[in-house]
Amino acid sequence: MLSTLEYTKHDLGALCYPDRTEFRLWAPTATTVSLRLYPDGSTSPVLDEIALIQGESGVWIVTIPQYLHGTYYTYRLTIDGISREACDPYAKACGINGHRSMVVDLARTNPAGWTADHGPTLASPTDAILYELHIRDLSSDASSGIHAKGKFLGLTETGTKNAAGLSTGLDHIRALGITHIHLLPFFDYASVDEAAALPNFNWGYDPANYNIPEGSYSTNASDGVTRIRELKQLIQTLHTHGLGIIIDVVYNHTFATEDSCFHKIVPNYYHRTLPDSTFSNGSGCGNETASERPMVRRYIVDSVVYWAKEYHIDGFRFDLMGLHDIDTMQAIRKALDEISPAILIYGEGWTGGASPLPEDTRASKQNIAKLPGIAAFNDNLRDTIKGNVFSATDKGFVSGKHDLTDELRLGICACCAHPALPAALRSDPNACWAAAPTQSINYVSAHDNLTLWDKLTLSNPDVSRKQRIQMNQLAAAIYLTSQGIPFFQAGEEFLRSKPKADGSGFDENSYNAPDSVNSIKWDELTENLAVFEYYKGLISFRKAHPALRLTTTEALAECLHFLENTPDNTVAYCLSGAIAGESLQELLLLFNPNPDPVCFSILPGNWNIYAAEGCASAQPIGQLSGSSILVAGISCTILGR
Ligand code: CA
Repeated sequence: MLSTLEYTKHDLGALCYPDRTEFRLWAPTATTVSLRLYPDGSTSPVLDEIALIQGESGVWIVTIPQYLHGTYYTYRLTIDGISREACDPYAKACGINGHRSMVVDLARTNPAGWTADHGPTLASPTDAILYELHIRDLSSDASSGIHAKGKFLGLTETGTKNAAGLSTGLDHIRALGITHIHLLPFFDYASVDEAAALPNFNWGYDPANYNIPEGSYSTNASDGVTRIRELKQLIQTLHTHGLGIIIDVVYNHTFATEDSCFHKIVPNYYHRTLPDSTFSNGSGCGNETASERPMVRRYIVDSVVYWAKEYHIDGFRFDLMGLHDIDTMQAIRKALDEISPAILIYGEGWTGGASPLPEDTRASKQNIAKLPGIAAFNDNLRDTIKGNVFSATDKGFVSGKHDLTDELRLGICACCAHPALPAALRSDPNACWAAAPTQSINYVSAHDNLTLWDKLTLSNPDVSRKQRIQMNQLAAAIYLTSQGIPFFQAGEEFLRSKPKADGSGFDENSYNAPDSVNSIKWDELTENLAVFEYYKGLISFRKAHPALRLTTTEALAECLHFLENTPDNTVAYCLSGAIAGESLQELLLLFNPNPDPVCFSILPGNWNIYAAEGCASAQPIGQLSGSSILVAGISCTILGR
């Protein structure tokens, strides 16, 4: 029976050896399968067509006694009497726009020194600081000073400057101090024409070939090797500088539905369908994949393992992870643990629409406790800090809304059940959903929705620019010190904005907007350098203090203590105690979103000041002695001793 049939070997696709090339395709319902070979990846006529032979468990096989590296191919199948041609879902290389697969000898795609390449190894996921970047946004604006605009190689350039001579690109990111670059989809996606002289823009959440890099980011999309080698060069460069790389994976749906290679090869197997036989659309993109079926799950696990092993990927961000079933995500964690338990896994703990997948089997935020080693985006903290993302004008803790102190405490605790939280929050599965701080991705900006700066502008049109900067800095101070894993959109650190081209406001869904909207404007760094320095200071402070990076709910309960009876609308807490026998430096964090200064009573004695008003640093920026402290309006003060 098709729904339980499983091929358990890991040799699907085209395997290239010096004396032969082996082709294997899982197509259990096909009555004939043939291999079509082509000299190029676009429109050349077929060179040869060779029949495959049906083997075990629905797999079709042919071995050609030649080294076929660089040969392009497709399969032609007959199913229910209908003939169709499809590229290979297991392909590791392809031609322009991904329509034809290519046989590749992967050893020939490696830059010099690749076999010795490896990424950073973190002791805990909470040691990571994630920076979300679109490959094209980094370099497409002239102000980047980057030569390889819009390309993988743009992220390998150093010494690049803006008009004022400030570092841009990779140098800027290194100076900022983040640990991992999370790149928006860079597997082969469908919506950008790789053949165009000036390709259109897209975020890339529309998968074509899951195991192949996107061609429009390479300097030659027609040659199947170039995109692979240039992506490896990028990864090698990041690793050389001590930075990790996260791939944004989108296994939850395919760009095409009936015309996807999956559906052409095994109709109605890879996608979930509804009782009326139509495709379910839990992704909001026209279909959703059926991860619970054995060969879909196996495909996803094999694909993730391939990226980790072949490309030395340090982490995976799962788009609409709530559309995957728990068993699949657990299988992914197990498979990656065998490579390195330090490989990060996190995702969106929700779906993009109604799905037939039962809620209790979804890899959703509410079920994340069943997924140790996997984190979910913390929308509770996000919306508490800046206001609901689905309303441009809604305010948050930093921007003028009151009565959010319990929710902010919840977010600071990474949505773990801390004893100081109200019982109603502790028993709410939508509030205390994380089983450990390692399961919470803390953020206030991402590619989706308004940038943080635009959100503050629209929700606080009547306050001064100075006050909005204070709000932005207070937001950063909260999530960059909260328990969990901090994450932010590239450019947030110098007030990135996405004004629409027609002047009608800000783009909250710029997935296909032009570069002029999406690109990072590096000259804005000059004006907002103090904000960048503040982020940099907070990041270095976070890295210096294990108390900000606790790994268990038990440690949280033991080491984190909220100050009670603080001034109205404020939150303050102390971190102290010991982890694994090592005593922590005592820290005191005080957050005042009120426009006026407020006075906090604190434990008396001598304290170092690490953050106050618009400054933050891992080194003391001042000293204090006494039993109270005045915290400026809309600001954070951090003390330590
Ligand atoms: Ca593509």
